Amino acid sequence: MSTFRPDDSERYSSTASNVEKSGERNFLALSSAARRVDRVYHYDLDLFQVCKRCFQPQVFMEATSSKGFKNTSILREIATKFEVPAILIRHEFGDEDHAYPIDIHYWNPGILGYDAPPTRSLYGVSWGTLISTLEGLRDRHEC
Ligand SMILES: [Zn+2]
Repeated sequence: MSTFRPDDSERYSSTASNVEKSGERNFLALSSAARRVDRVYHYDLDLFQVCKRCFQPQVFMEATSSKGFKNTSILREIATKFEVPAILIRHEFGDEDHAYPIDIHYWNPGILGYDAPPTRSLYGVSWGTLISTLEGLRDRHEC
């Protein structure tokens, strides 16, 4: 099995899934082992925000640089269990310096189903808008 190196970017055509499939995060090894367990889902969650004091989750998030449909149904199921929103971020691939605008799709808890539309979507906003959203969810939490 080959390993991904940054200078291989042309060979791998620079998609996030190629980076994952290359084993850079040991995702392939973990996934191939875990997926031998039947009757469960395994979900590679991108990020969740929790309270520093009580560890109650405040939001569950997925990020993608792909343009097509992104299934968030399990993400929203998990978020709903904790009665918190789920967020999908669409961003430019490799935007580590946050130079490009993003789209933010936000589902209130309880919005379930395979292709349920977001409660609201913000298109072409800055990463700062995401930070403000996360700060708002932090500030709304009480414990
Ligand atoms: Zn708390």
